[in-house]
Amino acid sequence: MSKCDITQNIQSVNKPFLPLSKPSISEDEIAEVADVLRSGWITTGAKNAELEQLVCDITGAQYAVALSSATAGMHLLLRALGIGPGDEVITPSMTWVSTANQIELCGATPVFVDVNRDTLMVEADMIEPLITERTRLIVPVHYAGASLDLAPLRQLAEKHGIPLVEDAAHAIGTRYGDQAIGGSGTAIFSFHPIKNITTGEGGMFCTDDGQLAEKIRQLRFHGLGVDAFDRETQGRAPQAEVLTPGYKYNLPDMNAVLGIGQLKRLNELNNRRAEIAALYSELLSEIDEIKPLQLPDYEMTHCWHLYIIRLDIESTAMSRDDFMQALKERQVGTGLHFRATHTQKYYREKYTEPMALPETEWNSERICSLPLYPDMTDDDVRRVVDTIRQVITGAG
Ligand SMILES: *Cc1c(COP(=O)(O)O)cnc(C)c1O
Repeated sequence: MSKCDITQNIQSVNKPFLPLSKPSISEDEIAEVADVLRSGWITTGAKNAELEQLVCDITGAQYAVALSSATAGMHLLLRALGIGPGDEVITPSMTWVSTANQIELCGATPVFVDVNRDTLMVEADMIEPLITERTRLIVPVHYAGASLDLAPLRQLAEKHGIPLVEDAAHAIGTRYGDQAIGGSGTAIFSFHPIKNITTGEGGMFCTDDGQLAEKIRQLRFHGLGVDAFDRETQGRAPQAEVLTPGYKYNLPDMNAVLGIGQLKRLNELNNRRAEIAALYSELLSEIDEIKPLQLPDYEMTHCWHLYIIRLDIESTAMSRDDFMQALKERQVGTGLHFRATHTQKYYREKYTEPMALPETEWNSERICSLPLYPDMTDDDVRRVVDTIRQVITGAG
């Protein structure tokens, strides 16, 4: 290491740590949460109804059911569809573990489908060979904030009579053509703090299927037949009866009110994300060892949930994990979205037959998410790219 490198290192060490992500919360939003806390009603109530309506207005969804997480939404969906032992669900291995975990927990079998090497998204022709008479559901992911190519996926699902449910955890504000994700079909959003908008923890189940919405609404709260907030009694009708045993996945109003404020700023927040992503793309185009994901070739609007790059581990002779560690030592946080599900201990030990997931495995060793959140400055972006250059040069 040259003297100059050492000085640079000391300089970056002295800078504050730049995280992968940080929620953007306004003072107005904090005040709204405080108002709910003072109001005498902090659990599910009027603010939930307002949040659900706002999601319908923004996405065009016919029904929206607020939940404590997107994972809860996946659990309720599997229950609502009656999926269990002997059933198969087709989903990518390249996603967050929550989907496969829920499939396992209900006794069904996840059937992992490979993804496009450069978008990390599932395509219809990859799914078709995996369909069997046991296939009960298909769950593709709108990856990183880009849109899936929905038309062929919907055509395939319809042809085989299998429900298609979009994992839209990354995709609030994303559009496919001119249609917002969530506006038709069934899609599950997440409002975890890393996502483009947050309720602290939370999720939203959107669907154009009224019966499905009703089932999810019931299962969300103990399986009670009536789930309406009554303003006069400040609660639910106490006479409500259990129609079927349900869960406890409702969202408190103190969380919902945060989501309302966030959604009102959705365009502003996503526009800033897009500016940051554009600056990354411009600056990183000069570093051969770094290959960002590619944009799909169909018409869509990206909400830039994540900025994912692939490290050239051959030419740098450096592993992705060492790359992330080196950035961390230089005060730059990164993330991994995701380590392939089938390579994790439980899945590796349970499903020992080799799986043909070459693109998933190739990416699983090379991907890394760079810091991306609306409050980042352009200088922060330059600092990330300079630090990457420094790490790669040092490794070369
Ligand atoms: C975050 C995430 C989820 C789960 O969301 P929660 O609200 O944390 O349950 C599901 N799928 C993907 C792709 C995610 O990134």
